[in-house]
Amino acid sequence: MKYLDEYRDHRIARVLAAEIVQSTTRPWVLMEICGGQTHTIMRYGIDELLPRGIEIVHGPGCPVCVTPLETVDKAIALALRSDVILVSYGDMLRVPGSHSDLFRAKAQGADVRIAYSPTEAVKIARSNPDRKVVFLAIGFETTAPANAMAAWQARREGLPNFSLLVSHVLVPPAIRALMVSGNNRVQGFIAPGHVCTVVGCKEYEDLVRDFRVPIVVGGFEPVDILEAVLMLVRQLEAGEAKLENQYVRSVSYQGNISAQQIMAEVFEVADQKWRGIGLIPQSGLRLRDEYAAYDANLVFDLGEITVDEPAECISAQVLQGLKKPTDCPAFGMRCTPENPLGAPMVSTEGACAAYYHYRRHAVAK
Ligand code: SF4
Repeated sequence: MKYLDEYRDHRIARVLAAEIVQSTTRPWVLMEICGGQTHTIMRYGIDELLPRGIEIVHGPGCPVCVTPLETVDKAIALALRSDVILVSYGDMLRVPGSHSDLFRAKAQGADVRIAYSPTEAVKIARSNPDRKVVFLAIGFETTAPANAMAAWQARREGLPNFSLLVSHVLVPPAIRALMVSGNNRVQGFIAPGHVCTVVGCKEYEDLVRDFRVPIVVGGFEPVDILEAVLMLVRQLEAGEAKLENQYVRSVSYQGNISAQQIMAEVFEVADQKWRGIGLIPQSGLRLRDEYAAYDANLVFDLGEITVDEPAECISAQVLQGLKKPTDCPAFGMRCTPENPLGAPMVSTEGACAAYYHYRRHAVAK
């Protein structure tokens, strides 16, 4: 299959679904990591094509959802300073902080600008030498190379008014944390294809070996997901635990070496807090000491703050595959995309948003 349409072909999807049915003799719990994959599953009703015994649970792979509340609060505080231009991906504007969000800060007069890449933030800094430009640099391994490149470029130019508020997370340590947690139910993982285009399949080998858990690197179209599920079911039914790559059209074993080099030049691995979940050792990236002049935490002396999630929001359990969004009492009632209580309801990759857009009527029946 070469073209995108073929990955959405319902005839191919039905053949794969039938093969999954034929291959399944026992119940299995599988997790897709990436929020993009969650949305494909909900949008195309892939879970409904699967035999009853196959349960798909959703993982922590929505970058906006796992950005700590404290980082959102810091971004809002920075945005409200008259000397700052806060530049962010659009998805972050509606994410609730403790008391407000960037969208409301913008309505209050804060200079908040949306960018599609950090390079745009560097350009804004060049054109506004009398203002301090902060880029809210969040995401998984997928966005880390571009954010690293922005810091590298700013340092090379000696741009004095540019900095990054970094909240970068890494997928393999999150899977490891799930596997060692006492309440894990997941027996096989669909690893996120976009992340693996950067880091390669190799990053997942240790997990397969250490936990004897099958991992299939998967793409984002319906046929990709079904093929990845079939590959996992075949392994599980055969008692195997292997690393396989379904997304061969984009992902190699080694990944993108140039992207890995710029990440390693600018960032180092560090402990990282995940929104709702808490601290996961060695699961994030922070700027190296050589880039301290571009670290908004240091430039603005932001320090450490700790704030609590709204008690009603069960996103921590949703992001660990322990509950579905529809298990949340606030779902679709007190929590909607217009009035979100938690980030998964507002992010374009959030599981709660996926259920709200594609399943809320089914739930209401
Ligand atoms: S529906 Fe809203 S309150 Fe419930 S878990 Fe999702 S984001 Fe949190």
